[in-house]
Amino acid sequence: MQMDQDCIFCKIVAGQIPSVKIYEDDSVLAFMDIGPVSPGHVLLIPKAHYKNAADCPPEILASAASVMGQLAKAVSEAMGSDGYNILCNNGRAAGQLVDHVHFHIIPRSSGDGIFNRWPAFEYPSGRAKELADKIRAKL
Ligand code: AMP
Ligand code: ZN
Repeated sequence: MQMDQDCIFCKIVAGQIPSVKIYEDDSVLAFMDIGPVSPGHVLLIPKAHYKNAADCPPEILASAASVMGQLAKAVSEAMGSDGYNILCNNGRAAGQLVDHVHFHIIPRSSGDGIFNRWPAFEYPSGRAKELADKIRAKL
């Protein structure tokens, strides 16, 4: 299994530093975030070290995806929350601080003010299609 000796999440997987575990199988680990943005904030990671979602082989992403829904439901029900966000930050510009791909599961309550800025805008005519063409060309 791919491991990075300097990676804090790899150290958690290896049991070299402590964590409060929620769920574990051969491929993935879920544990409490040490700096929660809401009570019950959980991180779900593949045990293997991959930097981000694009680097991560599909079958590894799939192993995380296969427990994500059930885990989110458990977090949400246990916290009595109105909803939850599943968030994967990729790259510094997107707020990724730990370079081991991870999914935040963040319980939400109405009016909690977390992520209350969602700076949506409108494309000028034709721009969405232009950008879609560029993206499709990279697939
Ligand atoms: P990100 O900014 O998406 O890379 O998120 C990294 C997350 O890892 C943050 O929410 C941190 O609070 C969390 N974190 C960092 N170190 C630990 C640790 N030792 N145990 C649990 N969570 C951690
Ligand atoms: Zn790692």
